[in-house]
Amino acid sequence: MADVQRTLVLLKPDALQRDLLGEILTRFERKGLKIIGLKLFQLSDEQLNVHYAHLAEKSFFADLKTFMKHTPVVGIVLEGMEAIAEVRKMIGSTNPLQADAGTVRADFSMNVSSNLVHASDSVENAAEEVKRFFKEEELFAYAKITDQYIFG
Ligand code: UDP
Ligand code: MG
Repeated sequence: MADVQRTLVLLKPDALQRDLLGEILTRFERKGLKIIGLKLFQLSDEQLNVHYAHLAEKSFFADLKTFMKHTPVVGIVLEGMEAIAEVRKMIGSTNPLQADAGTVRADFSMNVSSNLVHASDSVENAAEEVKRFFKEEELFAYAKITDQYIFG
């Protein structure tokens, strides 16, 4: 049985600089994913230390944090059937050169350090990441006239 899940997406500073915010958001909309939360905001050092804690020992950690703070990012919470795995499928592998054609990273990028988008990779991380970046009052549950066609 497919579960309805929520997942956290960040459109990174390179997506903003390259005018790809709409292009990427459109892909999620067309899939039928429901936008539950959406905002532009500046990431803090504290947030990045937690968000990328699994990379703290890597040589690129400092550069990654600097990059993520270049400009505000767009935070998006998406809801849909198996949304966590589906969104990861749509963004593609971390290294754009290894990502499948048709994914955001393969179609619009070539460099692992500027791969345009973040998306949660597990049920546990999705729950933590949504809470990390969105207050309860910034999330919206609402019906859409298309729900019956999208969710079955
Ligand atoms: N990253 C990098 N160099 C690397 C590996 C990762 O700059 O060799 C960056 C890249 O922007 C990536 C982020 O660190 O998206 C987080 O890495 P993770 O392994 O969590 O990949 P993701 O979940 O973003 O696919
Ligand atoms: Mg990750």
